[in-house]
Amino acid sequence: MAFQMEINRGGAGPRFGSQTILLVEDSRMFSIALSHRFHVELGLNVKVCASLNALSEALSQQDGRYTMAVVDLNLPDSPYGEVLDCVIAHGIPTIVFTATFDLATRSRIMERNVIDYVLKDSEFALDNLVGTVRRTMTNRKTRVLVVDDVRSARQILVGLLQAQQYLVVEASSGEEALAAMQTYDDIEVVITDHHMPDMSGYDLTRRLRRRYGSDRLRIIGVSSSNDRMLSATFLKAGASDFLYRPFVPEELQCRVANNVDTLVQLKQLRAAAACDYLTGLYNRRYFYDQGPRLVSDCLRQKAASSVAILDIDHFKRLNDTYGHEIGDQVLKEVAERLAAIFEGSDNLLSRLGGEEFAILFPMMDSIAATKLCDEIRSDISRLKVKADDEELCVTVSIGVAEISDYETFDNYLNAADQFLYMAKHKGRNLVYSDAKLTGEAAQ
Ligand code: GH3
Ligand code: MG
Ligand code: MG
Repeated sequence: MAFQMEINRGGAGPRFGSQTILLVEDSRMFSIALSHRFHVELGLNVKVCASLNALSEALSQQDGRYTMAVVDLNLPDSPYGEVLDCVIAHGIPTIVFTATFDLATRSRIMERNVIDYVLKDSEFALDNLVGTVRRTMTNRKTRVLVVDDVRSARQILVGLLQAQQYLVVEASSGEEALAAMQTYDDIEVVITDHHMPDMSGYDLTRRLRRRYGSDRLRIIGVSSSNDRMLSATFLKAGASDFLYRPFVPEELQCRVANNVDTLVQLKQLRAAAACDYLTGLYNRRYFYDQGPRLVSDCLRQKAASSVAILDIDHFKRLNDTYGHEIGDQVLKEVAERLAAIFEGSDNLLSRLGGEEFAILFPMMDSIAATKLCDEIRSDISRLKVKADDEELCVTVSIGVAEISDYETFDNYLNAADQFLYMAKHKGRNLVYSDAKLTGEAAQ
C-alpha cells in the first residue's frame, strides 16, 4: 500500500516491459515514426520487416516471440496481402494498417480474425494505430463476461472478443452469470442477451447494478428482439450500452472499447486524485479516505494499530540555504526511501503536505511501531542527497501514537503530532511515542 504511483513517472501510461512487436511496413517514414512511438510511448521493442522476404526470414529465426504484429497489407513483393496470411499462419495476433480500403478488402481482413484494422487516411492515422496497440495490451488484462443461453450466438460474441484479446468468461444463464461474478472478481464488462429462460437480461442488469456501480462494471445489452423500446428499457435499468442483433462486428468492438476506455479513464482520475504530485506517494486525501476503514477493521478484531507522523528537521533552513528546488529534491528522495522501505507491506504511507509524512501501521502496537520508526529514522539519517557539488544529510523526527479505541481519525493524528512535538523539543532526529515514554519512566 506504500507504493509510489506510476502517474508521475513519465505520464505516458502503462508500459509493456520487454515485449516485441512485429512491424511489417515498407514505408520508411511510417516504420521510423511508429518504431519510435511504440518504443517511447508503450515501452515495446520493435522488429521491422519491409518485405515478405524479410518477414519470412524473421519468422523462421524467432517464431513465437512476438506479442502482436502490425501489418501493412500491400508490399512490393506481397501485392495481395500475402504478408497478412503469413503472420496469421504463425498465430500472431495482428492489426492491419492499410491505405487501400473497400468492402472487399474489409471482408478479406475480417475473415482473418484480426484484432482490428486502422486506415492510413489522415494525419491521425499514427495516433489511431498507437492507440489501437495500447488498447489491445489493455484488453489482455480486461475480463469480459458473455451471457447468452444460445450457444451459437454466444460463440459469435466470444470469438469477436477473443480476437481483440479480451479475457472472456461465458455464462449460459442469469444465475450462471451471477456465479461467475463471484468466481472472478475482476470482471469489468458484462455483455448480456435479453431473452433467457431463467432470468431476462433486463433483470440480470438490475441485479448487477444493485451491487456494482457503473464506475466499476459496464453492462452492454444485446438482443434480436423487434421491440424498439428494449434499448431504452435496458439503459434505464442501468445498462451502459445496448445493441440490436444482428450487429456489425466493428460496432460491437467500438462500443466495448468505449466502455473499457471509460473505466480506464475513471481509474486514472481516481489514481490522480489519490496521488501527491511532487513525490508520487498517496496524498492526504487518500490517507484520510482509507485510514479510518483500516483502523475500524483492526478495532473490530480487537487489535491495536498505530499511526506515525514523520517530519523533516530544519527543512526551512535547508530551503533557505540551498533553495526551493534542492528542497524539493530532498522531499522526493526521502519519499523514495520511505516508499522503498514500505513496499509490499500493509502499512499506509502518505505525504500529508509540506515536509510531513503520515504512516498507518494496521495490527501493530506502538512498541513495534516505535521500533520500526526508529529504524526508519536511522535509515533516513544515512541518506545522502546530491545538491550541486555537495552531499546533503537530512534527519527526521517521528511521533507515534497507538490506536486502541474508537475515536475520530483526527484525534489519532493529533496524538501522534503531540509526540512529534516532543521529539522536536528533545533535540530532533528522535522518535517519541507512548511506548517510549513508558520505557523512559521505567528506567
Ligand atoms: P522543524 O525541524 O521544527 O520541523 O523545522 P522546519 O524548518 O522543518 O519546519 P517549518 O514548519 O518551520 O518549515 C517547513 C518548511 O517547509 C516551510 C515551507 O516553506 C517548506 N515547504 C513546505 N512545502 C514545501 C515543498 O513542497 N517544497 C519545498 N521545497 N519546501 C516546502
Ligand atoms: Mg520540519
Ligand atoms: Mg513541519
